[in-house]
Amino acid sequence: MTPLQLQGIGMTSQRTRDRLVDRLKERGIRNPDVLEVIANTPRHIFVDEALSHRAYEDTALPIGFGQTISQPYIVARMTEILLEQGPLESVLEIGTGCGYQAVVLAQLVNRVYSVERIAPLQQKAKDRMKLLRANNVKLKHADGNWGWSDEGPFDAILSAAAPDHIPVQLAEQLKVGGQLIIPIGDERKQVLTLVTRNEDGFSKKIIEDVMFVPMLSGTQK
Ligand code: SAH
Repeated sequence: MTPLQLQGIGMTSQRTRDRLVDRLKERGIRNPDVLEVIANTPRHIFVDEALSHRAYEDTALPIGFGQTISQPYIVARMTEILLEQGPLESVLEIGTGCGYQAVVLAQLVNRVYSVERIAPLQQKAKDRMKLLRANNVKLKHADGNWGWSDEGPFDAILSAAAPDHIPVQLAEQLKVGGQLIIPIGDERKQVLTLVTRNEDGFSKKIIEDVMFVPMLSGTQK
């Protein structure tokens, strides 16, 4: 990829990206650091070239294998909510997909760990991390239902796939005071849920209705 391709022209130019940021502000995203990172992250390299002209629309787009790149609004919203706790040392993501959310997070926290169950998606994400020099992101091909206990406990866990109930084993990989943000539900209705680990257990807060791909079990080659 040439520097110009990375920088973007026409429908992938800085002007187009700035329009996306204006749209996110209109939708209520407030954290200036999050908005700046979205403005500076080349989302067009996370999708197929045939879709790159749509990369700065505020929509989810297909990335193959029946999966999607998350909508920029939801990436911004989940990131902004987690950052409300203060600076984050380590964050675990379930569902790397194309790697966009991981790269956004990597610019705002010290270390990102991300798990993906579909091998070719994981490999492509790895290549993009190299291209963007996101050296503080560690990726693994595995079933994220089990978290990544060797690297935990984490300040925050973000799931980009929706299980039908809160996975206890993930919540248990949080530090005390740490937060898990996760869509819970099925293909008809899901709610974005924020789980906080306290000294004596967990508390839960519902954020808003969302629509994510389902959290599946096992891995895929
Ligand atoms: N984070 C991505 C979103 C990818 S969509 C972005 O930045 O746009 C969600 C991803 O979760 C898919 O790639 C899907 O394969 C993955 N996924 C679903 N269940 C999983 C599981 N149990 N473990 C790991 N990844 C999972």
